[in-house]
Amino acid sequence: MKKTYDVAIIGCGIVGAAMAYELSKYELDVVVVEKENDVCCGATKANSAIIHAGFDPLPGTLMAKLNVMGSRMAKEISQALDVPYKQIGSLVLAFDEDDLKTLDVLYERGLLNSVPGLRLLDRDEVLQMEPEISPNVAGALCAPTAGIINPWEYGIALAETAVRNGVELRLSSEVLSIGQDDENWRITTKSGDVHARYIVNAAGVNSDIIHNMTAEPSFSIRPSKGEYFLLDKSEGSRVKHVIFQCPSKTTKGVLVSPTVHGNLIVGPNAVPSERYDVSNTSDGLDYVRSAAMRSVPSISFRDNIRNFAGIRANSDNDDFIIGISAPRFLDLAGIKSPGLTAAPAIAVYAAELLQNEGLALSRKSDWIGTRKKVRFSELSVEEKNRLISENPAYGRVICRCETVTEGEIIDALHSPIPARSIDGVKRRTGSGMGRCQGGFCGPRILEIMSRELGIDPSEIIQDREGSYILTGQTKKERC
Ligand SMILES: Cc1cc2nc3c(=O)[nH]c(=O)nc-3n(C[C@H](O)[C@H](O)[C@H](O)COP(=O)(O)OP(=O)(O)OC[C@H]3O[C@@H](n4cnc5c(N)ncnc54)[C@H](O)[C@@H]3O)c2cc1C
Repeated sequence: MKKTYDVAIIGCGIVGAAMAYELSKYELDVVVVEKENDVCCGATKANSAIIHAGFDPLPGTLMAKLNVMGSRMAKEISQALDVPYKQIGSLVLAFDEDDLKTLDVLYERGLLNSVPGLRLLDRDEVLQMEPEISPNVAGALCAPTAGIINPWEYGIALAETAVRNGVELRLSSEVLSIGQDDENWRITTKSGDVHARYIVNAAGVNSDIIHNMTAEPSFSIRPSKGEYFLLDKSEGSRVKHVIFQCPSKTTKGVLVSPTVHGNLIVGPNAVPSERYDVSNTSDGLDYVRSAAMRSVPSISFRDNIRNFAGIRANSDNDDFIIGISAPRFLDLAGIKSPGLTAAPAIAVYAAELLQNEGLALSRKSDWIGTRKKVRFSELSVEEKNRLISENPAYGRVICRCETVTEGEIIDALHSPIPARSIDGVKRRTGSGMGRCQGGFCGPRILEIMSRELGIDPSEIIQDREGSYILTGQTKKERC
């Protein structure tokens, strides 16, 4: 018999995951349909990983309101769900008189947006706090509530919590069309039809395409690419805060920041792009490098270990596009920066909109709101010894750069949303994130996956569907 869900969420980036997490608190049948073979493979996978304080968005916009609320929630949720997060504060640098005027504007905006603890610093204060900053600096805006987070784990943790609380996740289920059966929506996906009373559109860069399947076109996505350098841990303490430059109308500019893993991230630029073009260009990277050195001239780009790019779901609207656009159809569209920060607040606001649209929200009494995972490298010697005596797999280090053990890899393969690719393991454990970028641990992870999942090594993929690693045998087996 055909099942009708109360709510179908389209897309499982940070916004879809936060929506699923929020709705999992209520007595509802919820399904998430995601195009890719894992969660958080769109913009949520490749961004600056900053939990913004909230002085940038214009007062009165949804972005302003949801940024400040989301920043507070990110801190609480990270603690409850064991997500790496550090509140390190941010500095926006000024280099001339015009920049100093911009800082005044941002400071005033921040006050109107209720951002706590903002302070304007003079040149000497900035250089005292951050000695590696260019001596050309003229002042800075300090926002102590800004933080850094692991965006993959944040999204995975939200989605896992939703799944543990009964939400169904259908991966590899790209939505192809949406129609109606009687009173309900019929969503045709690559893995079959899904029926639901309500739809939430959280399809990121494709949110205009999904919107147009049910409603009159009212906005369009204008994708914008941002490119990055990720530097080795030897550069990770070059600065202590998130270092921004003064923002323009379209971007927050090139930043330099430590990551939660102890690396240094530098980027992004902003160039119009295709929806899926995550290639790096030498022009783009040259621009990022020289812009970053204006802030922190001593960065050693020789210690770069990886470049990557992410696509912003910018739109022809200056704000997030959040609202009911057809009966029982809610857009969470054009969620550009600060979308990572705002996501949990977007979900709370969206649940209210669904309730106003007739969805009954009755709290579950047995909702599970905590999560804990083993991070071997962070344990004390006593804790490590105890764990190894309970399970020797935690005593075998597979990724030597990041000290990730076989036990953690096995955990990732049997977690509520199990990793099904080498990069899926990386996003859950940090394996392959270090200086060798998986050169040494990749083949061993492949072996572990083959053994644990009971599949032939040739079927293991690097990331997306079809990204097979082994193409055939080079030697015949001996008799
Ligand atoms: C370069 C860059 C830097 C950024 N830096 C920051 C930052 O530091 N701090 C911050 O707060 N924000 C930042 N952002 C913004 C933030 O990353 C995004 O706002 C956020 O990730 C958007 O989440 P989302 O879930 O809407 O989109 P996505 O993460 O893109 O998720 C959308 C999902 O929908 C799926 N999907 C698409 N089409 C379909 C379909 N037809 N059927 C089923 N599923 C579909 C996709 O596969 C994807 O998983 C940055 C963004 C970029 C690109």
